[in-house]
Amino acid sequence: MINVIRSSMPSFEEYCEEIRELWDSRWLTNSGAKHQELEAALKEYLGVPALSLFANGHMALEYALAAMELPAGGEVITTPFTFASTTHAITRCGLVPVFCDINDRNFTIDADKIEALITEKTCAIMPVHVYGSLCDTEAIAAIAARYGLKVIYDAAHAFGVFSGGVSSACFGDAAMFSFHATKAFHSVEGGAVCCSDPELAERMNRLKNFGIVSPEQVSHAGGNGKMSEFHAAMGLCNLRHFEDEVKKRRQHTQRYINRLSGAEGLRLMPSQPGVTSNHTYFPVVFDGYKLTRDEAAERLAARGINARKYFYPLTSDFDCYRSLPTAQSGSTPIARHISDRILCLPMYADLRPEDVELICDIIME
Ligand SMILES: *Cc1c(COP(=O)(O)O)cnc(C)c1O
Repeated sequence: MINVIRSSMPSFEEYCEEIRELWDSRWLTNSGAKHQELEAALKEYLGVPALSLFANGHMALEYALAAMELPAGGEVITTPFTFASTTHAITRCGLVPVFCDINDRNFTIDADKIEALITEKTCAIMPVHVYGSLCDTEAIAAIAARYGLKVIYDAAHAFGVFSGGVSSACFGDAAMFSFHATKAFHSVEGGAVCCSDPELAERMNRLKNFGIVSPEQVSHAGGNGKMSEFHAAMGLCNLRHFEDEVKKRRQHTQRYINRLSGAEGLRLMPSQPGVTSNHTYFPVVFDGYKLTRDEAAERLAARGINARKYFYPLTSDFDCYRSLPTAQSGSTPIARHISDRILCLPMYADLRPEDVELICDIIME
């Protein structure tokens, strides 16, 4: 059985060594030594002035939105070609998702279609660096500046992606990363928000700890979004091996490209000039190929290979969003076209070269 992903882990001994001191300190959560160490290491690696760790990526998105204190009922322009979390975070913060179409090149938000969706209620844009491809950050920043909008990137897929040496964490007012076990870099569960405004980070830090300012002062109705010491320790171990993780994934990407590129009706993700990829997914679009996406998925499944229709369905097709004005059929035609045809092939560090060959044989056969 080959799954679409397999979590990378440090050796058992390395993790045990990392958590050993917790038995002495008995400081298990609430910004202990491991948490502080991971925060500092990530700030340095990502080149950001401020970073707040969270229990998971979804909480990170919700707390980032909450800390921005956007007006209730405000509209947030986003895309439906994403994981449920992006759209849910907007909704759960009392805001309204407005679905913008994606571009046909790399499936990120089509910046040319954003302005037409702006109303007097629009307060923010939440684009997604989907599959680790960077959005058109310059065009988005220009629109945001013109209309006074906040930009929060869902960078869940883009940890370790650098454009001209600048990390994906540096774009927008805030960028969220997920450190879920299925992501290229993980802390089992975990997430972070990066930002350049230290006051925003301060508000997030307070909100994720019940709004507590000091033992006798509570300023906001916050919740609990904290990352524990055990999760931070896993993050520290995995961060040591992240470069190697990406290197292995790059080899699999190259092997897939060698076998699949040029096949008529199969579209692979183009690489972005000047961008160092993290090779986090290997999506293939079956667009006029001899097999449909669903047929290819079935043939792979019959051989014990679990590829994923990621992202299908669009979040705008979920029962909870179907009635929104921008969720109507025809609103985001490119997102729909891609969502109906895309398949993510297995991609993880310990994937074997012969597994990649087998997967390609089944698709090409
Ligand atoms: C994984 C993911 C999230 C949520 O992260 P969790 O850590 O699982 O809560 C949000 N957005 C996207 C695009 C994701 O892939």
